[in-house]
Amino acid sequence: GLTSAHRPSATRTTCGYCGVGCALDVVTRDGEVTAVLPARDGPVNQGHACVKGRFAHGYLTSPERLTRPLLRRDGRLEPASWDQAIGEVARGLRAAVAAGGPDAVAAISSARATNEENYLVQKFMRVVVGTNNVDNCSRLCHSPSAAGLTASFGLSGGTDTFDDVERSDCLLVVGANPVEAHPVVGARLLRRVLHGAGLVVADPRAVGLALHADVHLRPRPGTNVALFHGLAHVLLAEDLIDEEFLRERATGLTELAALLDDYPPDRVADITGVPATDLVAAARLYGRARRPAILYGLGVTEHLHGTDGVRSLANLAILRGAVGTDRGHGVMPLRGQNNVQGASDMGALPDVLPGYGRVTDPAVRSRAEAVWGVPVPERPGLRIPGMFAAARAGELRALWVIGEDVCATDPDANQVTRALDTCPLVICDELFLSETARHADIVLPAASWLEKDGTFVNFDRRFQRVRPAVPPPGGTRADFAIVHAVASAMGTALGCATPAEALAECGRVAPVFAGLTHGRLDREGAVPWPCPDPGRPGEAKLYEERFATADGRAHLAAPPYLPPGEQPDDDYPLLLVTGRRWAHYNSGSMTRRGGNLTLDPVDFLDLHPGDALRYAVDDGVPVTVESRHGRARLIARISEQTAPGQVFCAIHFPGSGVNRLTSHHADTVTSCPEYKVTAVRVSGQPRR
Ligand code: SF4
Repeated sequence: GLTSAHRPSATRTTCGYCGVGCALDVVTRDGEVTAVLPARDGPVNQGHACVKGRFAHGYLTSPERLTRPLLRRDGRLEPASWDQAIGEVARGLRAAVAAGGPDAVAAISSARATNEENYLVQKFMRVVVGTNNVDNCSRLCHSPSAAGLTASFGLSGGTDTFDDVERSDCLLVVGANPVEAHPVVGARLLRRVLHGAGLVVADPRAVGLALHADVHLRPRPGTNVALFHGLAHVLLAEDLIDEEFLRERATGLTELAALLDDYPPDRVADITGVPATDLVAAARLYGRARRPAILYGLGVTEHLHGTDGVRSLANLAILRGAVGTDRGHGVMPLRGQNNVQGASDMGALPDVLPGYGRVTDPAVRSRAEAVWGVPVPERPGLRIPGMFAAARAGELRALWVIGEDVCATDPDANQVTRALDTCPLVICDELFLSETARHADIVLPAASWLEKDGTFVNFDRRFQRVRPAVPPPGGTRADFAIVHAVASAMGTALGCATPAEALAECGRVAPVFAGLTHGRLDREGAVPWPCPDPGRPGEAKLYEERFATADGRAHLAAPPYLPPGEQPDDDYPLLLVTGRRWAHYNSGSMTRRGGNLTLDPVDFLDLHPGDALRYAVDDGVPVTVESRHGRARLIARISEQTAPGQVFCAIHFPGSGVNRLTSHHADTVTSCPEYKVTAVRVSGQPRR
């Protein structure tokens, strides 16, 4: 028989792909993962998981895994010891500060890393370097949610739990494709619809859920604000609003009502392309439901006016009194990355400390200073696009990129690469020699989520434990250990030696997390924040008594509709929308290294049959896609899923050059890139 060392064993952890936060039992034998099973008692997934969480673990043992630090010498990356690499990082950062001051250094933390790692990265930047130049990739996806939801309701997070969906009788799903991008959520939504809930899908594409929708609204990309105002217009015109709620618990109705006079269904139809009858039908479904819920994704946020989109979508829930009451289930952003909520909660942002207190607020700074023992810089730091601009301008002297392939995933990729090549010191923590790592001066081989200890926060604000199922391969280190080592090499002990201690310390800096500890999560499985008290449950549904705004009320917003950054014209007649597909995850660096590649082997450019005819493109042939910013090569796939005049491709095969196409346009409030609207042209090689 097997000795105990060879018997399979299972470790309970939380999926490291999307923000649903499925609990997984990872089965290992002889130190290798042999299976990943969805936990039947998983708080969110209840026995389900998708093709990413279950099967995309082959990357762990990929021969391409980095296992030694690399240092650039004479223009080439060469292997080095950890002592040499950490010494070089410390020397380089000290030199950058000496030459340009603390603000000449910046870090991009990771929404894939644990809360504890994000806490430590932002603490390192503020305490050791002395700058607020720290950001994370929520900048590129849900920063408009943080800004918009905070302005409308008071906190940066979904207002309700996903379990509430099971009680909802009408779902409004906007700019999201959960069947592919968040499959466990997609399945639960579908189950609810099959049990009788109404469904309105608003998305330019015929995404999976749209097949089951009572009404599918297909707005032109970039016209969301007009669409949401059109829905709000109908709610007001047909008296489908909650007057008592608006009187007692909201502000801004007079200004909004005046604005909505300009958005009758006919005018909205002209702007958005959505027939007025469909708009009215959708508003009636949402307006007449007993407990409606709104779920949305990056189709709302990744726009020039993404924050306005979030706020005008939140208006609908406020008008209906469907948030903070038992008459609805609020507004929930579907987060993309496993820990995009947590990375921001932990303060890996340039303008807020852990728990979202603003760095400009002396009371917030002094609470952190009491724990950290040093002054906290008060000037907000650079956002990610600002970091690249500062690097190109020669003002940034060192950039530490933690687990993010910015050269492949950030928009206008040619400009990102130029920024990295201009910056004198680029440090990169990575699993593989990514495009970003190739442009770095120091590459540090990192551990992955199946090898780490800590916590993630999922899309409905639940903290869950992350546990190492296998040890990190020899030569790699968790980001937590890397940041500690660099701090000590720079002469500062960061404290909080273990992830458990880091979360406990975070609770002292940010009281909203004070009731959360690893021990409690080990006992209870999942606990939502706000959770200020270790003896009480966290708040799953928010705002039942008051909103977290200064006046305790929900704030209606009245932003006018403004067009997107790019429009189709004679040179670039099509609009490109980018997004996700079911088998892969973001840049695909993990999901492409394993069996999932056989499920979804290449990236396609989806285009409508009419456009295929017009531009002489055959199904299955290579096409060149060009925008004002760059060029990509993809395989054409003719599909009615995409509307006429639009094309779609995923972001999982960056080698095709997708993000060389996308533009520099970004949300005017948060700098979130406008990935969802790029004017392009397509030329194919028609089959003879
Ligand atoms: Fe669940 Fe998302 Fe992981 Fe799939 S990728 S198993 S839906 S957390």
